[in-house]
Amino acid sequence: MDETMFHELKKEVIDPGFCVLCGACSGFCDRIELDYEGAIPRLVGSCVKGCSNCYDHCPMRAGFDPSQVFGKTEGDPIIGPYTEVKAVRAADEEVREKAQDGGAVTAILSAVLDRGKIDAAVVVERDEKWRPIPRIVTSKDGLASSRGSKYSPSPNADELGRVFRREDIKSVAVVDVGCHIRAIRNMEYGILYNAGFSPYSDLKIYTIGLFCSGNFIYRRLLPHLKEPEAIKKMDVTRGMFTASGREKESRPVSQLEDALMPSCHLCGDYTAELADLSVGSIGSPEGYSTVIARNLMGWGMLRDAVQRGYAEADPGLVDLEALKKTVKRKREKALRRINREREQGKATPGYIQCLLMGKG
Ligand SMILES: Cc1cc2nc3c(=O)[nH]c(=O)nc-3n(C[C@H](O)[C@H](O)[C@H](O)COP(=O)(O)OP(=O)(O)OC[C@H]3O[C@@H](n4cnc5c(N)ncnc54)[C@H](O)[C@@H]3O)c2cc1C
Repeated sequence: MDETMFHELKKEVIDPGFCVLCGACSGFCDRIELDYEGAIPRLVGSCVKGCSNCYDHCPMRAGFDPSQVFGKTEGDPIIGPYTEVKAVRAADEEVREKAQDGGAVTAILSAVLDRGKIDAAVVVERDEKWRPIPRIVTSKDGLASSRGSKYSPSPNADELGRVFRREDIKSVAVVDVGCHIRAIRNMEYGILYNAGFSPYSDLKIYTIGLFCSGNFIYRRLLPHLKEPEAIKKMDVTRGMFTASGREKESRPVSQLEDALMPSCHLCGDYTAELADLSVGSIGSPEGYSTVIARNLMGWGMLRDAVQRGYAEADPGLVDLEALKKTVKRKREKALRRINREREQGKATPGYIQCLLMGKG
């Protein structure tokens, strides 16, 4: 059985096309390589006897029980557990300039890095053709080129695996989309549960989840981009995909349907409900990011950024109903798709089976 854990993962997740390229399987295993272009992980050696890290960390295989992070708090039925929701923007105009929305993520990371609350952050840069590149940064200055959204998956959990092995990093913040945050929770809690077996179990992980309506397979998105090198910013808002380069090009996201990761059709997690802080554009005026603090860790990060003058926050600017409407729409769409595919006898990712059974 132990010999075959990658093969089990292949059967349950990779072959049916459910992989979300988070990198949680390769993060602790040098026998697994991520084929980014092919959008799948590959085994390049043989499995270590007794090891099931790749299988255990995969976010698509099984559910994650939120009470491990949030205790018995039920939270809001639509946006999940939260302590506060605010419209936030970076105080520094220069940060805002190249940020996706209000630059809240960059401002918050700057504050907690400067304060020494975290030793490092895992963020996403990009190459000239918009391929995401995960990076470990250890100072505020390193954050400059991570600003802005890249609309393809970034295997940040693979990078986090490297952080676990670094003696100089005791606390880290990771920014990622909801399905990847589930992988990071699996890594974090799986390791804590096996603390007796792991030398890395004292790493403290702060998670910043991004709202997400869907992510595109890089090699399929690329042909849709006219002159990718000239594009300065991409955006997905209210069903429209916009690439701003020499000209501004907008089209309905439905026209990029072929590039969307198959798992995104089945996903109902718009606001990254397992993160300590969740951030997106919906719900706030232009130039601001909506920030949901879900627990003390998230609340503390936001407080640090505001109290130390890195960010400005205003709860009065948030349109919570608009946010909830968007969340509901994504959930209902996903549920319709799940039901249709089940009727057609198609496989359902293990984590969704758990959700449908009320586990996780
Ligand atoms: C694939 C994707 C889909 C999204 N869909 C929506 C949506 O439908 N509705 C909505 O309201 N918001 C969505 N967002 C979030 C939104 O685009 C902004 O990221 C968010 O509002 C934060 O903006 P900011 O100005 O505070 O961030 P900034 O200060 O500009 O920082 C951006 C941060 O995002 C990280 N990042 C960039 N690309 C990726 C990536 N591919 N994977 C992981 N981390 C990344 C960077 O490392 C950086 O830390 C999406 C983001 C992504 C990556």
